[in-house]
Amino acid sequence: MTRIEARQGDITTEKLDAIVNAANPTLLGGGGVDGAIHRVAGPQLRAECATLGGCRAGEARLTQGYRLPAPHVIHTVGPVWSGGTKGEPDLLRRCYVNALDLADHHGIRHLAFPSISTGAYGYPIDQAARIATGTVRAYAEGETEIELVRFVCFSAEDLAVYQALLKPPG
Ligand code: ADP
Repeated sequence: MTRIEARQGDITTEKLDAIVNAANPTLLGGGGVDGAIHRVAGPQLRAECATLGGCRAGEARLTQGYRLPAPHVIHTVGPVWSGGTKGEPDLLRRCYVNALDLADHHGIRHLAFPSISTGAYGYPIDQAARIATGTVRAYAEGETEIELVRFVCFSAEDLAVYQALLKPPG
């Protein structure tokens, strides 16, 4: 059974097996959650990322966590929102699936996601959170060793959106 939950907080403080980074295609650091993760992890993270040759939207890459409490970081690149007709929903879904697949293949049982694409990349929170929660739920129904998926929301408003979607029906 995979437990799925949402909490408010700073993902860089999570002590799970892995945290997911909403990276940009260079993987060399940026603003938002990406900047926060690189600041805490330190220069070794950037050095390892520089060996990876970038990452396209929807794909995911695994690195160590260095000075982070989490031993691993899964970097994924969300789609930039441009109205929703450029394949954004499928790309966002693939971010979650590819991050979860990578976790499973490396024996990562407990991991945390930020709200991918809903900051600088402009994806509307309601639509993005529906894809995030729906994709993780569907994944959890398949064969997986993952025991905990935690959505870490930066704001109380985002947390409310995720919690409403995760509430059991009835
Ligand atoms: P993107 O470029 O994919 O939109 P951003 O980092 O700009 O990524 O934003 C994604 C989400 O991460 C936003 O909801 C933002 O508020 C949130 N965020 C920023 N810093 C942190 C952090 N330290 N922990 C968790 N979430 C964060």
